[in-house]
Amino acid sequence: MNEKKHIIVIGAGFGGLQAVQKLSKNKDVRITLIDRTNHHLFQPLLYQIATAVLSPADIGIPTRSLTDQMKNVTVLMDEVTGIDKDSKKIYLHEKEMFYDYLIIATGAKTSYFGHTEWKKYSLGLKNIFDALRIRNKLLISFEKAENHPERSEELLKYIIIGGGPTGVEIAGSIAELSHSIINNDFRNIDTRKAKIILIEGGSDLLSTFDRRLSVYTKKRLEKRGVEVMLNTRVMNIEDKTVFTKSPFGDKILSGELIIWAAGVEAVPLNANSGFNVDRQKRAVVNEFCSLNEYPDVFVIGDAADFKGKDGKPLPGVSAVAMQQGRYAAATIIRKIKGKSIEPFRYINKGNMATIGRKDAVAEISGFSFTGIFAWLLWLFVHLFYQVGFKNKVSILITWIWSYYTFGASARLIQNPDDI
Ligand SMILES: Cc1cc2nc3c(=O)[nH]c(=O)nc-3n(C[C@H](O)[C@H](O)[C@H](O)COP(=O)(O)OP(=O)(O)OC[C@H]3O[C@@H](n4cnc5c(N)ncnc54)[C@H](O)[C@@H]3O)c2cc1C
Repeated sequence: MNEKKHIIVIGAGFGGLQAVQKLSKNKDVRITLIDRTNHHLFQPLLYQIATAVLSPADIGIPTRSLTDQMKNVTVLMDEVTGIDKDSKKIYLHEKEMFYDYLIIATGAKTSYFGHTEWKKYSLGLKNIFDALRIRNKLLISFEKAENHPERSEELLKYIIIGGGPTGVEIAGSIAELSHSIINNDFRNIDTRKAKIILIEGGSDLLSTFDRRLSVYTKKRLEKRGVEVMLNTRVMNIEDKTVFTKSPFGDKILSGELIIWAAGVEAVPLNANSGFNVDRQKRAVVNEFCSLNEYPDVFVIGDAADFKGKDGKPLPGVSAVAMQQGRYAAATIIRKIKGKSIEPFRYINKGNMATIGRKDAVAEISGFSFTGIFAWLLWLFVHLFYQVGFKNKVSILITWIWSYYTFGASARLIQNPDDI
């Protein structure tokens, strides 16, 4: 009989991977890492896949290669469909497994706030497949416009819904691609005339940042040719059409590509397993990142509702997931050794978002930065946290190349059937 405690980690994202790295150092446990994909994904750079700057392999790293040196870690590519907390069992597609401790780090998915019908007409940005779909549609819109220049005004119109970091970054990046990078590549159209509209329901972009940074971001995006619509609520989305409502009146906007960056919710596993969940379907956890009645079940990262000092759930950012992953691993080891455990404390190291070339906003330890310094900081932090040395080097080379050549090298249309 194997006496080593069995720890199952569901999800090889930011939280799950940190937990596994820490747990693997303890030879008295065996770990099973389960993910429905075969890779760890660096989501903060997904928008650069969508806008043809990077290639998928730059930010998606095979989970097996990340764990090949960890002999007490078994990786399974499968989807966990349910959890029986009482018998300490998880259900996969075709089998069941027992655990002593469970870490759920399953992250989030795009949420349409109950309007699932909008999914048909807009694209979310949560994984590689979403990013490739956006890239395909974006690149095809340029090709179509070159073929039918008389329709270029209609074809080169992009609507982004949601003024958080993802919406801001993708709007800035599409503006850069169409207005500066590819404008010399076409003969029949002027891609600098592409229209990019960013819609935000609240009164500010980047609403969780210092207000000065929000105002700065809006100004800089507008300078780059993005039309920013604040206080504008999306009432409906249909084929290539967005219906909006604002204090200035209702509008019907048309766009060749509609990107939905307005919301996320936890993946359905929490709710399907009978956990106590909040409005965003995150599992409500206690100060130890575990379920109240099941202290051996930890839920971390985007899948968890952990209340911060202000009583609000911690934000869905990679720093929270990583810190909680390391914490859950350390807590499990302490429990196995019969030691006392401490509550989780989140250390907020700051926020940042890039607006485009040589421009970003950042707030770190109460200090705000804008412009080129914030941009360099953003580049450094994103390279530093990127997993895998080869990927760091590949991204750095691509960025330097793109910076000097004004190029977007990953302009491959993968599904020409979309034309
Ligand atoms: C476009 C975008 C930009 C972002 N930019 C930033 C940023 O600049 N800075 C920042 O800090 N954060 C950013 N984030 C947020 C950050 O990526 C998340 O907070 C972080 O990934 C959460 O980590 P996690 O471990 O909780 O989940 P994830 O990293 O999402 O990992 C979840 C994993 O679980 C797997 N999974 C899900 N369900 C199952 C199941 N049932 N069975 C098996 N496997 C399953 C998934 O395949 C996935 O690999 C961004 C997110 C997006 C989408």
